[in-house]
Amino acid sequence: MTFPRSVDEALNDLAAAGPDAIPVAGATWVMRSPLRHEVMAPVYVALSGIEGFQRIDVTDEAVSIGPLATHDALAQKLPPNPDLKALKRASARSANPGVRRIATIGGNICTAAFAASDFAPALLSLDAQIEVRDKAGLEWLPVLAFLESRKSRELPWLVTRIIVPRTVRLSAHERLPMRKAGDYPCAIASVSIAVDDRGRIHDARIGVGAVEAAPRRWQNLEQALEGQPVDPALTETAARDLIADFTGRDAVDAPGWYRTSVLPVLLRRAFETIRTDYETRAS
Ligand SMILES: Cc1cc2nc3c(=O)[nH]c(=O)nc-3n(C[C@H](O)[C@H](O)[C@H](O)COP(=O)(O)OP(=O)(O)OC[C@H]3O[C@@H](n4cnc5c(N)ncnc54)[C@H](O)[C@@H]3O)c2cc1C
Repeated sequence: MTFPRSVDEALNDLAAAGPDAIPVAGATWVMRSPLRHEVMAPVYVALSGIEGFQRIDVTDEAVSIGPLATHDALAQKLPPNPDLKALKRASARSANPGVRRIATIGGNICTAAFAASDFAPALLSLDAQIEVRDKAGLEWLPVLAFLESRKSRELPWLVTRIIVPRTVRLSAHERLPMRKAGDYPCAIASVSIAVDDRGRIHDARIGVGAVEAAPRRWQNLEQALEGQPVDPALTETAARDLIADFTGRDAVDAPGWYRTSVLPVLLRRAFETIRTDYETRAS
């Protein structure tokens, strides 16, 4: 195990140890590798000593999040504003209290094999940008491009920062956890919308997680909601009409058909939260 003090040192340690070396954040995924029948890595590179990696800065323009910020730290530090509600709720409701105190946002979004990340759909709906460092330098990627690049990026690389822009939008995050599946959600919906001065939805962004192997935006539903009122029942109906967009994955926690059948309900619940915040803002 190595304990670098900077990003450069960490990248050097990873490069020196070869492609099987593994960066370690909270280790809640890494330490379960024997359960997944994975071989131990030759070298583990701890990221916990890198300055600024735990930091969370909230301004009127953006939230800047270090990759080692824990779910719990984010849940506590994020303000309750409607634009950040999806992220705050993803932080506060994922996993269980013990895991939330240790697991990090960076470890969460860097694990390509993990289908049930709460942060991935939340960051998709909030149009986050991901800072990635590798030998070539520093790159900013929209979150979808980052998620899609995880398996194919040349090693070593590190996520070094996550930026969520502040807006006047309204957002929400809904999930259906399965106790028998160790607190993993079987479906997740994150929503962020703008509302125009006629009370109509504009530029909806909907992130869906856990339903398929990888999180993604639900663009057909986003388009169907453009110009519609903020109406939870109407949203659920529109989601049911378009549910064939998804092929639910069968896994030990839930069959694919169950994931797609609950997703429209999660959309309705998300829009109930959004409608309450919209009415509060308007009153
Ligand atoms: C019982 C249980 C229930 C859970 N339920 C949920 C849930 O409901 N919702 C949810 O979202 N998550 C859930 N999780 C997953 C949990 O959030 C992840 O285990 C966690 O996010 C991984 O974070 P970590 O800091 O422990 O990462 P680690 O285990 O340290 O690392 C995970 C992976 O990411 C890589 N990595 C870590 N940081 C970086 C970085 N900065 N740059 C590049 N690569 C990096 C590591 O090399 C490793 O491959 C659950 C986990 C457990 C154990």
